[in-house]
Amino acid sequence: MIKESLHKRESSLSYPEKQLEYLANGIFKNGELPTFKSKIEASNQYPLRTKKIEILQLNLGYMCNQVCEHCHVDAGPDRKEIMTKETMAYCLEVIKKSRVHTLDLTGGAPEMNPNFRWFVEEASKLGIKDFIVRSNLTIVKANKKYHDLPLFFKEHNIHVVSSMPHWTKGKTDKQRGDGVFDKSIQVLQELNGVGYGMPNNELRLDLVYNPSGAFLPGNQSAMETEFKKSLLAEFNIQFHNLLAITNLPISRFLDYLIVSDNYEDYMYTLVEAFNPAAVQGVMCTNTLSVSWDGWLYDCDFNQMLELKVNGKTKHIKDFDNEQYADREIVISQHCYGCTAGAGSSCQGSVSQ
Ligand code: SF4
Ligand code: SF4
Repeated sequence: MIKESLHKRESSLSYPEKQLEYLANGIFKNGELPTFKSKIEASNQYPLRTKKIEILQLNLGYMCNQVCEHCHVDAGPDRKEIMTKETMAYCLEVIKKSRVHTLDLTGGAPEMNPNFRWFVEEASKLGIKDFIVRSNLTIVKANKKYHDLPLFFKEHNIHVVSSMPHWTKGKTDKQRGDGVFDKSIQVLQELNGVGYGMPNNELRLDLVYNPSGAFLPGNQSAMETEFKKSLLAEFNIQFHNLLAITNLPISRFLDYLIVSDNYEDYMYTLVEAFNPAAVQGVMCTNTLSVSWDGWLYDCDFNQMLELKVNGKTKHIKDFDNEQYADREIVISQHCYGCTAGAGSSCQGSVSQ
């Protein structure tokens, strides 16, 4: 079980340029596998462009109380990058003047940002249709200042989306750390207790599944049925939807692939499962992602690789709806993770 981020361990893979170098060389440079660009060119989908901006995803910081094995953010307690109140204020201005219908707060653990509650209170006055917080659940138990989060979420009608890689303790703790499963179960019960995840209740509670190794997720709706059956029978827990997400070959998952000697096999799996029909549904076609320091990206993954958006301006303080609503998306080989099989996005499968 890992205890520190790649950043803290001073791993070369903590540098985005090293990850991009890895993804550009080897099997992609020697022509064994086609690059993502040539693959989408072959189905007349290059260049990939946005359609409109409907979702604003904000990364409130890389600090987290967990150090999960496959974290694409390389988050952990040792990360100090946190969005300032000033940058949050720029984001509020953008929400007011753009037509985004979904606001998606992520991290790290977004709740660890000292201005998290202030921001949620301000943003929830702006009439956002779907206000998501990606909560790792265990944060509620990490300190007594977080114990009332389920009620705080309810008060602001937050849509809670939480990772839960399996309904068994062994598989969950292996990926997310010792003790994570038990705490997650307690918090899911607390969320159910205030109304989250119950049938016919508008307080949305969705769970996220991602595979524990170098393989693709199974069928999303079949897994949802299994998760629902098991969590209800064993822990009396209910939730709305299961979102199945493919692990992208970046950051700690890329490190895991290389260390376990699975990198080439995994890239073969992604390329062989390439689904041209999933390309137009990838999340960068309707999302803009904002980093903790206010830079703009096509998605959270590009953010971690420091591939900024195409456009004359690239910072939230210079936001220009027209410019970003029709932009060419920056791609690399990691994008194969979004187009394999049923496709994958922060909202789960792109198609079934
Ligand atoms: S809880 Fe989420 S952000 Fe934190 S280490 Fe795990 S995957 Fe990364
Ligand atoms: S990784 Fe990002 S840029 Fe690439 S296809 Fe996925 S969402 Fe789009």
